[in-house]
Amino acid sequence: MEEKYIVTTEGLTKMYGRKAAAKDINIKIREGEIYGLIGRNGAGKTTIMRMLSGLSRPTKGTFSLFGMDIHELRRKNKPVGVLIEAPGIYPKMNAYDNMKIKVIAMGIKGDQDKYIKGLLELVGLADTGKKKAGSFSLGMRQRLGIALALVGDPKLIILDEPINGLDPQGIVEVRKLLATMRDEMKITVMISSHILEELGKLADSYGIIHNGKLIDEFTTEDLHERSGNYTFVNTDDNKKALEVIRKMGLEKCELDNDNMLRIKDTLSLEKNVCKALVENNIFVKEIRSQTFSLEDYYLKITSEGIPEDNTAWQYSQEVAQV
Ligand code: ATP
Repeated sequence: MEEKYIVTTEGLTKMYGRKAAAKDINIKIREGEIYGLIGRNGAGKTTIMRMLSGLSRPTKGTFSLFGMDIHELRRKNKPVGVLIEAPGIYPKMNAYDNMKIKVIAMGIKGDQDKYIKGLLELVGLADTGKKKAGSFSLGMRQRLGIALALVGDPKLIILDEPINGLDPQGIVEVRKLLATMRDEMKITVMISSHILEELGKLADSYGIIHNGKLIDEFTTEDLHERSGNYTFVNTDDNKKALEVIRKMGLEKCELDNDNMLRIKDTLSLEKNVCKALVENNIFVKEIRSQTFSLEDYYLKITSEGIPEDNTAWQYSQEVAQV
């Protein structure tokens, strides 16, 4: 079945003077998924989200939402829920009145009272009564921001760092809310964060932004596939060794670019591999195991930048092909 993309960008670029805040970005977001845009502060996440939300114009490149290009989107006014930077919350009003203003502005028809209460219930703010938004906790403010973004029943919602600064309880609440939006309300969610782990187990796909460039895009399945334990073996006859190891039932054994044997998920089998090779008259020159967590690596590059010594990065690319 052909995949349906709700968001696609082609060469999307935003220049501020000579500086490219986002450069040649090609993103694809599938219908009904949670897509995590990950990158450290200043990487370019907000810039991309602002363009997709119609808040700023691309310098170059183009994008489409729901299969519609920029011009069509302007004409048809398809609702996209957006929470970027400071959400338009009036601090002297309670949650209900904040919602009421947006509901009126968006021209929501029917029982507006029921509509507002339904959304406040969904985000866990049904019981906040007269409490003014100005005295809300950060988590409550973020959830009100999400409720505001949901006015108009968008099928795509773009949330810029909604988890940033929340305490663990607040993170759990927003995570649950995002899962409900995806699973029950069938909303496609694009969410940014500077911490991959925050979206772990929740997002279905990830895009890694670094210095304005999309340096990697992968699914949760890819992530699991890429991380794990690896055993590297070098012998006097690696081709023969490959056959022996595969005969042991270790199918995930490959010859890497350096002509070394690389076996995935075999930490406890190291001795057996050695024994089988020796029994087949193969001389084992070297055998070593290494745990490779791609997640750790992404945390490192999103907080510190790509290291000068880029071997880990190259390695992750190779592993991705196994
Ligand atoms: P953060 O989480 O800190 O907002 P980010 O990944 O969202 O990070 P952006 O806000 O998109 O990053 O910024 C990307 C780069 O573009 C930064 O270097 C920023 O200083 C620059 N930038 C963003 N907006 C403007 C602007 N209006 N004028 C000039 N430079 C800008």
